[in-house]
Amino acid sequence: MKNEIKTEPMDACQVFCPNLECSASGQTDQGNIKIHCRKRRRYRCTTCGKCFTERTGTMLEGLRKEPQLIVIVVTLLAWGCPLQAIVQAFGLDERTVSDWQGRAGKHCEKVHQDVIVQGRLDLIHVQADEIRAVRHEVVQMFVSTALAVMRPAVPPAVPYQNGQPKLLGQ
Ligand SMILES: [Zn+2]
Repeated sequence: MKNEIKTEPMDACQVFCPNLECSASGQTDQGNIKIHCRKRRRYRCTTCGKCFTERTGTMLEGLRKEPQLIVIVVTLLAWGCPLQAIVQAFGLDERTVSDWQGRAGKHCEKVHQDVIVQGRLDLIHVQADEIRAVRHEVVQMFVSTALAVMRPAVPPAVPYQNGQPKLLGQ
């Protein structure tokens, strides 16, 4: 399956330096990011002098396939689509799909650790609920849940557009 995919023009204002040791790390539209190479889609941070691609720090780093295909595959996996079905539908190697699944899982775990566990959230509303369940009049259990509406205090790994995740290349 050959996808005809248009690539998005490079926009240095929407990109931030991924170097955690850089004083401009994580900040967009500061004027410190310049386009370094259009062919290889590389940027350069004038603050720290490091070069990086738009895939640096994402699960796409080092992968050659089009990001749209990878996003589709990972989305299908997340919704329970069998790996073998994806292998057959897209003509991909099973190890490739498995690798992408592992990369996505590791990236999600890192985001969870960095944003959720570190408490770098700006909670707007939290709704707590508790259910008391009695089973066979012997076992009692309480199930507690909390639903939080939040917005991250740090820029998301995936850029957002109109409140929806913006897929790379869109
Ligand atoms: Zn930098």
